[in-house]
Amino acid sequence: MTGLAALRVGLVPLVILLAGAGGARMPTADCAAPSDFAWQPTSPKAGSLFRVATLARLATAPTATVAGEPLHFRVTGDSAFAIAAVPIDSTTGVTLAWPCGGDTSGNVRIPTAAGTYRLERLRVAPRFGTPPDALTAERMRLEAERAATVSRKAHDTPRQWLLPFLAPRASRITSPFGGGRTFNGAVTSRHMGTDYAGAVGAPVRAANSGIVRLVDRFTLGGNVIYLDHGDGLVTAYLHLSKQLVAVGDTVARGDTIGRVGATGRVTGPHLHFIARYGTITVDPAGLARQR
Ligand SMILES: [Zn+2]
Repeated sequence: MTGLAALRVGLVPLVILLAGAGGARMPTADCAAPSDFAWQPTSPKAGSLFRVATLARLATAPTATVAGEPLHFRVTGDSAFAIAAVPIDSTTGVTLAWPCGGDTSGNVRIPTAAGTYRLERLRVAPRFGTPPDALTAERMRLEAERAATVSRKAHDTPRQWLLPFLAPRASRITSPFGGGRTFNGAVTSRHMGTDYAGAVGAPVRAANSGIVRLVDRFTLGGNVIYLDHGDGLVTAYLHLSKQLVAVGDTVARGDTIGRVGATGRVTGPHLHFIARYGTITVDPAGLARQR
């Protein structure tokens, strides 16, 4: 099956869904009504990617957002499809905002499902270790801000990929996304990436085609690489022993971009892999399902 055929097959359920969601209302101009939208799954999970469908004629709306992140619609025939994301702390759903000349009647509240991430209940107050000194805290804040800048700019980059995302390593997952600890009912920490096993020097590959936006040494992440895949999607690769690419490089899907290491705050060598839609960090497992 060609990539294009796979793409079309993948879109069929949403096209049907969309046709079913259309009401009798005739929308005026390019303003949307809630019935002009469909999404899949019906209740996307907190911390996951999902897909929004609408009518092709609405797809050019410049400011449509879900959970505050802009949508990038791709038109296929009479329909258009976009990737969207649910923040992991979402409990009451996300808003699909469709401002249209001040008319917000097209806004939709999308219900979300709780994540099924494993939470370990702590019986005693968590120990956070020695808090960072002021200088280290400030450095970490600046590092996070640089990563967030990559995320925001990814919305301005045209989509760089055509084939589905790959896992960055073929090895086993040693710690899945989303696991956390709770104390007195509150989540005190969460694992916001997926850990892959690997010895120091083992290859790390680009999950998909993209542009290298950030190569540096971070306080917690150690040697990091951030890739911009366009249309808001970003992947990041942490704790590397070697970075084999430079900022501005274009990489192809599956290219070896670095080597597994134990840099930054870790207890042993592994790859910590991050997926983001804009600034929303999501379970990387959902990348492989995007078309
Ligand atoms: Zn990790």
